[in-house]
Amino acid sequence: MAARLIRRSVQKLKAYVPGEQPKIRGLIKLNTNENPYPPAPAVLKAVRGATDGRLRLYPNPTSQALRERLARLHRCAPENIMVGNGSDELLALACRAFVDPVAPGARQTGRNIVQYFTPSYSLYPVLADIHDAAKAEYPLEPDFALPPIRRLKRDPRFKKQAALTFITTPNAPSGHGYAAAQLETVCALLQGVVVLDETYVDCAPQNALLLALRRRNVLVSRTFSKAFSLCFLRIGYFVGHPELIQALDKIRDSYNVNGLGQVAALATLDHLPYYQRNFEKILQTREWLSAELQKLNFTVFPSQTNFLLARPPGPPASRWLAALREQKILVRWFDQDPIRSFLRITIGARSEAAALVRAAKKIISAGL
Ligand SMILES: *Cc1c(COP(=O)(O)O)cnc(C)c1O
Repeated sequence: MAARLIRRSVQKLKAYVPGEQPKIRGLIKLNTNENPYPPAPAVLKAVRGATDGRLRLYPNPTSQALRERLARLHRCAPENIMVGNGSDELLALACRAFVDPVAPGARQTGRNIVQYFTPSYSLYPVLADIHDAAKAEYPLEPDFALPPIRRLKRDPRFKKQAALTFITTPNAPSGHGYAAAQLETVCALLQGVVVLDETYVDCAPQNALLLALRRRNVLVSRTFSKAFSLCFLRIGYFVGHPELIQALDKIRDSYNVNGLGQVAALATLDHLPYYQRNFEKILQTREWLSAELQKLNFTVFPSQTNFLLARPPGPPASRWLAALREQKILVRWFDQDPIRSFLRITIGARSEAAALVRAAKKIISAGL
């Protein structure tokens, strides 16, 4: 058998399960938090304009122009920025740069620990497992708020010495937002590196980017995928102290970021007002959808993101998932505590949200 050829930890590994990308006609896709609106026309034009014989050439290896442009946007230096093949690549690189794997038979120390709150992005434990790191999970409050700092301070289950701590802010899958001041108190408790995963920050009233420029141990993670409609091209970036950025830069692939992605991200930054208008539309739809679902007796958590976490009335959420799918609406359900009774619903365009509400009414009146 081939098993002996494969590392034991890889044999045992439970791989990350991404949301489905089905090719079913007419399906309304509200399961992976993509932006319902297309990239700005000028972005598509820039990508088309770059699609010619030059595809045979390697792209800029350090995403230099993009890093300079992002540095201007965030009022920092290009040395504060690293671009990745999606932010997922950077999250994995952070494990490799900052966390020691646990050697077989060796003692665990803080240097081995990847820490994260639960529930949050389900990729973090998988990245820890891939790296043979130890995992430390700390539960969020029942309403998905961060635990009070006094408790974190004295509770030994919160690993102050963890080599790496991931915080999804605003939180996914709940949509709960966190104040920068509160995040700063948590970062100050931690001796290792903290990655603030700000994937969904563009729909939130505030961000914590300044912490990455003020504190040596904090990296802020951003992505063009969701807010800027570029999932397909895989562009994410970290902002942080030049020494942390340099460490990550040392271990990345030499051409980790594809050229069309760099072109598209640069053009995106020239058209931010277009995206701002789309965020406004998404926020309006979010408030409308939340109110409509509550009228149908869904329990809906407040959201600072482009999705809602909602507990449907009556039958289990897994049955709702299937019933909605029959109506050609795809949402996300996580078979895990404490969110098993919830659906995570991406805020689509207004017409998509309206279709979801119609489908929910139909399901309720048919008596699922
Ligand atoms: C989607 C998502 C990412 C990954 O984004 P990419 O830049 O597309 O790799 C990271 N963190 C969270 C919380 C996400 O939801």
